[in-house]
Amino acid sequence: MNAEIIAVGSEMLTPHRIDTNSLYLTEQLNLLGVDVVFKSIVGDNLRHLVAAAQHGLFRSDILIFSGGLGPTEDDLTREAVAEALGVSLRRDPEIIGKLEKRFADRGWKMTPNNAKQADVIEGATVLPNPNGTASGQWLSGEFEGRERIVILLPGPPHEMKALFEQEVRDRLRAKVPPAHLFTRTLKVAMLGESAVDARVAPIYKRYPDVDTTILAGAGEIELHFKTRAATLEDAQARADEVADLVEDELDDAVYSRDGQSLEQIVGYWLQMRNATLAVAESCTGGLLAERITSVAGSSRYFVGGAVVYSNNLKTEFAGVPADMIVRHGAVSREVAAALAEGIRYRCESTLGVGITGVAGPGGGSPEKPVGLVFHAVASDTGTEVIQRSFPGDRKRIRRFASTMALDMVRRKLM
Ligand code: ATP
Ligand code: MG
Repeated sequence: MNAEIIAVGSEMLTPHRIDTNSLYLTEQLNLLGVDVVFKSIVGDNLRHLVAAAQHGLFRSDILIFSGGLGPTEDDLTREAVAEALGVSLRRDPEIIGKLEKRFADRGWKMTPNNAKQADVIEGATVLPNPNGTASGQWLSGEFEGRERIVILLPGPPHEMKALFEQEVRDRLRAKVPPAHLFTRTLKVAMLGESAVDARVAPIYKRYPDVDTTILAGAGEIELHFKTRAATLEDAQARADEVADLVEDELDDAVYSRDGQSLEQIVGYWLQMRNATLAVAESCTGGLLAERITSVAGSSRYFVGGAVVYSNNLKTEFAGVPADMIVRHGAVSREVAAALAEGIRYRCESTLGVGITGVAGPGGGSPEKPVGLVFHAVASDTGTEVIQRSFPGDRKRIRRFASTMALDMVRRKLM
């Protein structure tokens, strides 16, 4: 069975608010083995809501609305769903009674518009809201010859979640055939998206039942293999079958298959090798150190380092000879190597990393254009330097450079 989520509220069509309810609902539905196939956000507008409800009823087995159940003029979800289903609304005296009591208990008088919250779609089961006045509603049955489940939930996240947990989850579990979804994630460093796809597409295309997605970031790519089966073990086995073949193809470019980040993997290898790391960063301005230290326990292998932005500090803190900078320029293979060696020496670490480059947008030249970065890793066996030209803006170039350096450390230790 598949599901569609419709977030109702004009505020989520502005640049200031986003729909987070659907993330929670998607997670919950996936746990029940239900795929979410459509998601939309619809403003508080009756015509648009009816259209969205009609589309949803036509194309999805389960339709979940959140929001638009309040007492005000712009709360139109009940009306819209009734219209799309071609049924009427009835005012439920029991809900009216509860609303009146709720107001009376607080010493307030209920304003007439609140009565709207007692409107129930014909055939619906009322789902009491433990945290608010707007009740949810549950409908299941045939619509134009197809089995449909329609669920109305309130918009405020804490109300929506409580109602889902208390009233919706078990009802859904009883309705949907038992199924399990599983996603295996492979993470790949420093290979281009199209290069990866060209190599792995022939593999995943042989598994049409596995839903494969490739997500590209700056220097990192994630491959997601999503499967569905009657048991979790079967779903996992099928996803692993494809993931294993893809991993064989991409070989050591794959750094993780359990969701760990590149900085976690680097930490793992440093500990495995009983090694420590120090960094001297110029164009990344501490981003590499930030990423390394974002991992809890990184003090076991990360000694620290320096942000050596000026030429002076490159010499003073990382021991880069001043005349080397004059001769080759701060952004050079030589200076990157000297940074890595110098910081390794100063910090007495097993490995030293040096990064120097042109992050832009200014400061580029024909010989040293924006995006040019030198990365170096120094160890007792020598110093490796890799030169790369990264695309994108300043933020992306810095991200690329830190990923490249982390990947060099990983490969050095593997
Ligand atoms: P209810 O159905 O309970 O009346 P509503 O849509 O009428 O909900 P609003 O007053 O419009 O209630 O919204 C209440 C709060 O919940 C607002 O802060 C709103 O931004 C938030 N909210 C509504 N829908 C979502 C959503 N899908 N994701 C995150 N926040 C949401
Ligand atoms: Mg709203």
